[in-house]
Amino acid sequence: MSILVINAGSSSVKFALFEFDTLRSLARGLLDWPGDAQHAVVTLTPADGNPISRELDVPDYRAGVVAALEMLRTSKTLGDGILVRVVGHRLIHGGPQIRRPVRIDAAMKDLIARYTHVAPLHIPAGLEAIAATESALPDVPQVGLFDTAFFADIPPAAYLYPLPYAWYEDWGIRRFGYHGTSHAYCTERAAEMLHRDPSQLRLVICHLGQGSSATAVRGGVAVTNTMGFSPLEGFMMGTRSGTVDPGILLHVLKERGMSVDELADTLHKKSGLLGISGVSSDFRQVEAAAAEGNDRARLALDVYAYRVRAMVGALAVTLGGLDALVFTGGIGENSAWLRAEVCKGLECLGVHLDASRKGTSYSLGDESAERGESRRAKKAASPLFWPDVDIAAPNSPARVLVIQTREDFMIAREARRMVLEKMNAECGK
Ligand code: ADP
Repeated sequence: MSILVINAGSSSVKFALFEFDTLRSLARGLLDWPGDAQHAVVTLTPADGNPISRELDVPDYRAGVVAALEMLRTSKTLGDGILVRVVGHRLIHGGPQIRRPVRIDAAMKDLIARYTHVAPLHIPAGLEAIAATESALPDVPQVGLFDTAFFADIPPAAYLYPLPYAWYEDWGIRRFGYHGTSHAYCTERAAEMLHRDPSQLRLVICHLGQGSSATAVRGGVAVTNTMGFSPLEGFMMGTRSGTVDPGILLHVLKERGMSVDELADTLHKKSGLLGISGVSSDFRQVEAAAAEGNDRARLALDVYAYRVRAMVGALAVTLGGLDALVFTGGIGENSAWLRAEVCKGLECLGVHLDASRKGTSYSLGDESAERGESRRAKKAASPLFWPDVDIAAPNSPARVLVIQTREDFMIAREARRMVLEKMNAECGK
């Protein structure tokens, strides 16, 4: 029996399959539309095997997900068919009322749809993935984890914008926060790595991926996140601008003849790393271009690092100090340059990197951070052992942790917990 996790993005869908009893990873999958909306590609990678890919002729997103689920369910690569016990979805927005994972039913789908205006690319994708799962696996319960849930209790001073109060009261305009599943996972994992109770820790967690945000966490509870009403606020990202002066937006609308749609497209898809570098939205490619002497690529990286550093400083001050700075997400986990650049100047907050690791771009998958048989043995013995590392200098008052984010694992674990709780409740009746 297995748990299927679905992470529906605007133009691709990630899958992960876990064994129900042990939470051992069985396989990962990706459904993508490289270029042509009619032709999707599904790639399935078993935990202990090579990827297999198949092209699909599908008319739309929902049909693509149905076909991918069918491929996953019947794949001989994974044995004689997969029996899915529960499906867990990563969902971007459930509003400030939702604090925990939920069972997805008609009322829940209505609630999710109510926030479409806030994340117009992601929410319809999540609802399509739910509908596809209902038709492909009709008798399997579906559970949702919301990115906003970790921020349900941020204080009013952190969630109110300095705009007319009626905008908040009448239109619900406030800050929400995103990437909560990743930030919640890193909070738990940081406490575990530091052998401290989460209630004792002040953390700033930087999730730096294609989308990026940072969270200040005190005592295991989120105080604020850099994304706000929408996932456009905060850090500069792959193609998103992050925070910019709203005066600029008024200027281009009024004086430069830009339409609202063009402006939205620019802020979402043509800004950030891509906008400044003109090279790519992909951090690795921008790093490569900068290394070859491309000045705008170098500038894009410098702006990126400057903004992360400034925000880490601001968040640490809201916490009154810092016990650990956490890097996660594709960029945070992999770019040693970025981590060193962000930490430069944070010595005043007690952040000191281990000089021997500065500039070493090591993948968290390799063995360089903690060598030897003991690590390999631990990894083989426990499916829940992740290769996370502390890269602070031994005498650094604040620790610097690189944590491989495991949103899919978190979703699988919570979905399993809900199934077991329901079974226990039924047994107790
Ligand atoms: P998503 O937000 O889509 O989940 P990821 O967390 O996978 O994205 O992060 C993708 C980003 O991570 C890309 O910009 C990619 O270039 C960057 N990245 C991945 N590996 C590396 C690496 N070795 N060095 C620098 N950046 C990397």
